[in-house]
Amino acid sequence: MTTTAAPLLEVRNLRKHYISPKRWLRPAKPAIQAVDGVSFSVARGETLSLVGESGCGKTTTAKSVMRLVEPTSGSVVLDGEELLTLSPNEMRLRRRQLQIIFQDPYASLNPRLTAGDIVAEPLRNFGMGAAAERRERVQWLFSRVGLRPEAAKKFPHEFSGGQRQRLGIARALALNPKLIVCDEPVSALDVSVQAQVVNLLMDLQAEFGIAYLFVAHDLAVVRHISHRVAVMYLGHIVEIADRDTLFSAPLHPYTEILLSAVPVPNPRTPARRMLLQGDPPSPANPPSGCRFHTRCPMAQAVCKEKVPALSERPSSSDGGTSTHLVACHFR
Ligand code: SF4
Repeated sequence: MTTTAAPLLEVRNLRKHYISPKRWLRPAKPAIQAVDGVSFSVARGETLSLVGESGCGKTTTAKSVMRLVEPTSGSVVLDGEELLTLSPNEMRLRRRQLQIIFQDPYASLNPRLTAGDIVAEPLRNFGMGAAAERRERVQWLFSRVGLRPEAAKKFPHEFSGGQRQRLGIARALALNPKLIVCDEPVSALDVSVQAQVVNLLMDLQAEFGIAYLFVAHDLAVVRHISHRVAVMYLGHIVEIADRDTLFSAPLHPYTEILLSAVPVPNPRTPARRMLLQGDPPSPANPPSGCRFHTRCPMAQAVCKEKVPALSERPSSSDGGTSTHLVACHFR
């Protein structure tokens, strides 16, 4: 996928710091730096995945882009428009272009509404079409995500996990969005159902040109669905590359360790599992310099003092035309 045209989504220096309220006679607690200076872009019709350990800030980044959590600072430009300066009402109107699919399909669906009403809700909220047109659109959405039209009368508890996630996808599609944030959309599903839902998302992208910001920890799923992958560690992006480059020639030591945990399907290929030392440091008190230096097998003295910039390296795929960014002093 080429990314030379103006990107659909441009995120610059995004920060989300959680600050505890001051208590009388108690020392102030340090801010939790969940996301600290993250920049990336997503092209039209592209899937960019955010990966990393639990607590690395990938979900907070995705929710900050949608302003489901309010970022502390930075810039989020969707289709040429800055989102972070919009009023709540203006932001609500932009949600037509920017939808989300949640991890837990059951918790994200109103149990008191029928499936048809759940999918029709965004259409009603934005005053789209007469009742008959909305019914027709809901039926079309049901068939497009692989649900039978009769299922519109059922309630969420009457569906399987995979069917509920299809319902969540139909709801996200209802308003013809340009970008869908997928927050671990298959991690709560059985493995066989995961593949069906991932393939459905890819088919819909091919048909409607939707871009996905895809948050996941399952690297096999990420490899299947992504055009590019951004690796996060403790609130920072440490590497971004196109999917093939990242999986075949990762440069950052953290990416290498993450990828070494992916099972190799060929029994003749020896597994090269590398272990990550220790626990992740607290985002309330991140290490100085390179945030990975406390766990990095290659760390040297400079790593404790100097923050490595996320800078460009020659890419090994696409004949060297795609951008490969890495934040490491020695790679
Ligand atoms: Fe490791 Fe140093 Fe590179 Fe950070 S900058 S990843 S600590 S070698």
